[in-house]
Amino acid sequence: MTAAERLATTGFDIDHLPYGSFSTSDSGPKLGVRLGDHVLGVATLLGHAGAAPEDVAATDDANLDTLLTRDRAAWDRVRAGIIRASTDPSVAETVVAEAVPLAETVLHLPFTVADYVDFYGNEFHASNVGRIFRPGQPPLTPNWKHLPIGYHGRAGTIVASGTEIPRPEGLRPEPEGPPTFGPSRRLDIEVEMGFVLGSPVPQGKVALADADDHVFGLALTNDWSARDIQAFEYVPLGPFLAKSFATSVSAWVTPLAALARARTTPPRRDVPLAPYLDDSTTPAWAFDIDIDVVLNGEVVSTAPYSATYWTAAQMLAHMTVNGAGLRAGDFFASGTISGPEPKQRGSFLEITWGGTEPLSLADGTEIAFLRDNDEVTLRARATGPNGTPLVFGETTGRITTAR
Ligand code: MN
Repeated sequence: MTAAERLATTGFDIDHLPYGSFSTSDSGPKLGVRLGDHVLGVATLLGHAGAAPEDVAATDDANLDTLLTRDRAAWDRVRAGIIRASTDPSVAETVVAEAVPLAETVLHLPFTVADYVDFYGNEFHASNVGRIFRPGQPPLTPNWKHLPIGYHGRAGTIVASGTEIPRPEGLRPEPEGPPTFGPSRRLDIEVEMGFVLGSPVPQGKVALADADDHVFGLALTNDWSARDIQAFEYVPLGPFLAKSFATSVSAWVTPLAALARARTTPPRRDVPLAPYLDDSTTPAWAFDIDIDVVLNGEVVSTAPYSATYWTAAQMLAHMTVNGAGLRAGDFFASGTISGPEPKQRGSFLEITWGGTEPLSLADGTEIAFLRDNDEVTLRARATGPNGTPLVFGETTGRITTAR
């Protein structure tokens, strides 16, 4: 039997192979690849595959940082080498012996975040938020269908899944009188898909058709948000402290190549788009990925990523069209993912309609926003390139008391 046959589990088989950064009690951190409930050192594995020295060197690192400076051809060679070593019966004993059980590892952020951009690309979410925050006005702003709205976030507060999230403090609006300072009373999640970028383009533009050359992979992202702080601060320049305290990212980056079969066409475009955003003739860049929101073990919503209006390729084209270029380790997120149905909403703001319709939980309690000690886990699934299930690495975090 090959190593892949011996180690694979449902969702983490030879067709997936997400990357992460792991340590054990006596080594690391180093770049690893996940096969089932085990982690394999990528550089070691490529050695068994007889990979070129420059490809071994690109993976002999604590995380994805060096590999992200390389190009699509190198990324494809590395993945091919991992598959070769994992399916070669002649090295199966060695590969299995070197595999580290996940339970014996500590996982880290899989790459060093360069710049972080957060978008607002889902029409259902944007419409819901518009109705809740600006009742009586059109839910979408006039620019919404002409460009993917976004803002530049804070790279230094992106944290690995599992990191505890202290409740942020800030200025909160009050029904009467001036705002008060204190812990957020409306702490929320945002279900998002994150995109890890590489193959740098200094001071350049990335055309829609070239997105495949620069999107290394996808990682489940929870963009924690303090709705009270947000409501008071966001006019006129957008979110600031309400979102920059923490953004949780999965410890596992799913390579773009593993999602070839999950690709699908995005929603129909309602207005003509500028040429740099017109995706009517470029490859499909939406993905069939369903994301569960799990609160303290209970699934409270399932958000369909395919419902998102703006694609990652359009977001990448937009954020570079002014010549800003991209660096290895740049990261952007899709914006909150919601679907048309109430059970498909990707934030508690929407699930409880601004807190006015509390959610009843299985334990008999009601919740509007997050309480101290609440734990939120995002779990997602898609179909792998050969039709087997693909399960994303989860993103989890627990709220602790304001400090
Ligand atoms: Mn967000």
